[in-house]
Order: sequence, then structure tokens, then C-alpha cells
Amino acid sequence: MAGFRSLARQVRDQRCDTALRRYALRKCLERFAPYGHRATWDHLCHRHGFGPDDRELDPARLVAALEELEEARAVWLAYEEDFAARRRREKHGGLRALGALDDWHRDVWGGNGVVRCGNPAVHPTDPLPQVVRRLVTALEHGPGEACPGCAGARIAWGAGDGDWYGPVCADCGVEVPRAALTPGALARARGVRARPLVPAA
Ligand SMILES: [Zn+2]
Repeated sequence: MAGFRSLARQVRDQRCDTALRRYALRKCLERFAPYGHRATWDHLCHRHGFGPDDRELDPARLVAALEELEEARAVWLAYEEDFAARRRREKHGGLRALGALDDWHRDVWGGNGVVRCGNPAVHPTDPLPQVVRRLVTALEHGPGEACPGCAGARIAWGAGDGDWYGPVCADCGVEVPRAALTPGALARARGVRARPLVPAA
């Protein structure tokens, strides 16, 4: 199975035809897709102005989308490295790991679905690196009151993608990691039933 970097080389490879380069970009999303595969693809299509089946696609748009994805991935991987190093130090010092945060990290290790979006058409509209940076800051600072994706305070409780049932941002649609919310914010979210989300225009 090709890794992210060899797929990225294919996206940039001018000898490949555009359809193959687009396919390689989609395959990159199987390795790293913060909102999940379909929602991250939807985001890149919108931001870089190409459709999922665009026949007259300018390959430069694919490369621009790849660059956005790569920058976000670098932010996330640097965070994971710090996180792993911190855990090693804590274990060495005899400190027991925090269960919930560790379980969540195991599920999203590598950056897939760190803030998954149940509805692939509803996701933050800011550039991916900005959203991932915001999430990393939230995780590093400990639980907060607002959505780590868009800083919105309207968090509801509902079913998301796959087997997710928990806090979902009513503004940007991300499934908010429980570790990013204070007990108070979680309790408030539990009192709010999620309504179907409306895609951003
Ligand atoms: Zn949000």
C-alpha cells in the first residue's frame, strides 16, 4: 500500500494524466483526512474550485489542494510526536496515562478523522492547517468551552459518522473530541439534541 508521500509525488507528477493525479489525491485522503475521507474531499473540491468528476480540471488546482493537505498533516504529525514523547516521559515517571484521551488518540493516530464530520457536506470552511492548528492548541491547553474546529459555542449531542454518538458542533459539523471539552461544556451539550445540519453555502 502506497504511503502518503509517494501518493503526493504522483499528484505532482506531470507525466501522469490528470485523472490519475486526482485519484492519487483521493488516495492521500485514506492516509490523512481530518474530517474523514468524504468531508475532507468535499472541502478540498470547494476551496480549490474543482468538481469530483471535473474533466477539464487544471492539475495546478490538485497540487494546491495537496499543499493545503500537506501543511495540515505536518501540523498534526508534529503534535503527535510531541504527544508521544510526553507520554513516554510520563510513563517513565510512573504516571498513569489518561484513559479517554489515549483511547481517542489511538483511534485517530496518523490524523484520520481527528474532527470527523458526519455529514460530508458540512465541515469548517477555513483552510485545513488553520483548523488543525486550532484543534492542536485546544488539545494542548486542555478542555475548553467551545468547538475546537470553529470556536463556536453551539455544541449539541447526536449521532455522527459511523459509531460516533457524542458532542457535535452545530455550526461547523465536526464531531468534537470529548477531551477538548470541559465537563460543564459536555453536560450542556448533552442537554441539546443535534438537529440535521445544513451545508454551508
Ligand atoms: Zn465548530
